Amino acid sequence: MRKTTPFFLLFFFTILVLPSFGQQRKGKNPLKNEVVQTIDQNYEALTGLSDQIWAFEETAFDEIQSSKALADYAEELGFTVTRGVAEMPTAFYAEYGSGKPVIGILGEFDALPGLSQEAVPYKSPRNPGAPGHGCGHNLFGVASLGAANAVKELIQSGKIKGTVRFYGTPAEEKYFGKLWMIRAGLFEDVDAVMDWHPGAETKANVQTGLALVDFLVEFMGQAAHASSDPWNGRSAADALELYTAGINYFREHVRPTVRMHYHIQDGGQVVNVVPDYAKLWVRVRDANKQGLEPVWKHVERMAEGAAIMANVDYKITLISGIHEILVNRTGSAALQKNLEFLGPISYTEEEQEFAKKIQEAVDKPQVGMVSKIDPMEETLKNPMGGSTDVGDVSYVVPTIRLSASTAPSGTPWHSWAVVACGGMSIGHKGMAYAAKAMAMTMVDLFQDKDLVDAMKAEFKERKGDYIYEGMVPDGPPPINAPY
Ligand SMILES: [Zn+2]
Repeated sequence: MRKTTPFFLLFFFTILVLPSFGQQRKGKNPLKNEVVQTIDQNYEALTGLSDQIWAFEETAFDEIQSSKALADYAEELGFTVTRGVAEMPTAFYAEYGSGKPVIGILGEFDALPGLSQEAVPYKSPRNPGAPGHGCGHNLFGVASLGAANAVKELIQSGKIKGTVRFYGTPAEEKYFGKLWMIRAGLFEDVDAVMDWHPGAETKANVQTGLALVDFLVEFMGQAAHASSDPWNGRSAADALELYTAGINYFREHVRPTVRMHYHIQDGGQVVNVVPDYAKLWVRVRDANKQGLEPVWKHVERMAEGAAIMANVDYKITLISGIHEILVNRTGSAALQKNLEFLGPISYTEEEQEFAKKIQEAVDKPQVGMVSKIDPMEETLKNPMGGSTDVGDVSYVVPTIRLSASTAPSGTPWHSWAVVACGGMSIGHKGMAYAAKAMAMTMVDLFQDKDLVDAMKAEFKERKGDYIYEGMVPDGPPPINAPY
């Protein structure tokens, strides 16, 4: 039997239901509508700035133009900007308002070496050999500043009270700039921090990631002719090989959450000289700082064993280390509600085609962009994935973390494919979406003192009696480090 829908029902459907599917969906909280509107109004400026930083493609501590572009824009918007903080020329913060609460938001802007890429769905370096934004940090800094600005407008018009502070945090890909910003006390008066990261999914990020430590191992021996008098030589490269063999044997006897990497930086210069010097950068990771510590100490100790075997001297230098994330599910739940309200990012056919071409190029299922909003995940006991210096921030201030889609699912991270998407509309959309979700959540933090208090209570409980101490050597940050 065929049914006809009565006309009046169609009328009500059109009036009442359809608008809620559109981009301009309005919620009950007028301030959240306002921050979303501010970000929409600034879309051109934000994407322009993101594209600029994408093209600057500057790596850790060399982000001179990128940092300046963000700081200048913040100043233009009316923020008070303090540059060159924590002894790092490219670190800054931009602040607006006064008094409590103080809500912080983190921005990164460094690129990765060797990943230069055009905004096209196949591998095509823009400047062969040059760096590229393979982690999407060009989007990261801009979205966070865009969110901070939307909140600033509300403080400016007297609709909310307190202080919003954007942190321009350099060198996330190497050295971990936030460590020195924490050491300089720049987070001491902050009540809560927002953070996001570009990804292949849109979700409240409630996973801990891994803690890690970086250190240099150097071996010093005696040079000699490799053939005519090798008995006068003591090979630093022998020690290096024995050392890495030790690490690789040790792999079998650590927990599955442990990762050990090394990058050989110097293994000798020429084949006919017994090398008197060898150097490697060693990285050890585990699910948390506590688990990391004994593995780290053992991997360090093995250098002595290798040095004894090769009859050379050795030296260990701590570069830096980072904590895993201290997850805050209370804050994440507030973010989750805003994600559910915003709904998934919608993509054009061209964007889906672009995404599928990338998936084809990297040999992944051609499913296009995925932007559905799933319920908040459980926090896993045995995490996977990378590490971030946001971990250390999360140990000093309750931190809410977002992941927003800026690249197709299955895309290898730290690759040309991420650079490509970050320089076109797929990245731009993720950036604007992240800005909106974070600004809305910051509205919650400014309006709802109970929420901030509950976040602080969870923070305290999770941290327990652990006393945070950054894994950084004494002295200034390694701005001109020879490694
Ligand atoms: Zn990153």
